[in-house]
Amino acid sequence: MPRGKKKCSSCDIFVGSRASKCSCGYVFDKKTNSKKINKLEVLSRLVIVPEKNKRPFYLKEFKMMKSLTERYSLEFLLVVDFGKKFDSLAYLVSPKLKDSLDQRWRAFNYKFDKSKYSNYNIGEKFGDDKQLTKKNKTTRDFLNE
Ligand SMILES: [Zn+2]
Repeated sequence: MPRGKKKCSSCDIFVGSRASKCSCGYVFDKKTNSKKINKLEVLSRLVIVPEKNKRPFYLKEFKMMKSLTERYSLEFLLVVDFGKKFDSLAYLVSPKLKDSLDQRWRAFNYKFDKSKYSNYNIGEKFGDDKQLTKKNKTTRDFLNE
């Protein structure tokens, strides 16, 4: 990927990394831009941050978070929901929760594919618009008569 550029997932051309919209009309979702995701925010929604000794806690937790983002993604960690907070990410890296995480990871990616699919439906909308134009034409034709 060229430096300072990002790829539009709709038309595959490269645009400036800070662009919020591609010339094709594709809008970049800020939430999926991993550079903009606050790791501290991700961590604090998954685990209970202790009142004391935060420094060693963060050091340890961010290390585990790194291994989790390598296996999954930071975007995934930002949305994954367990309905509760853990004392440590150690629970998430443990083999005990791996299956559960993998399952959520698949669901996460499925949702992603689904959003891609809904983009295709825009084509059908265009079809409706065409019909509307036709109707207008008919009205104009009627007025011209
Ligand atoms: Zn584009």
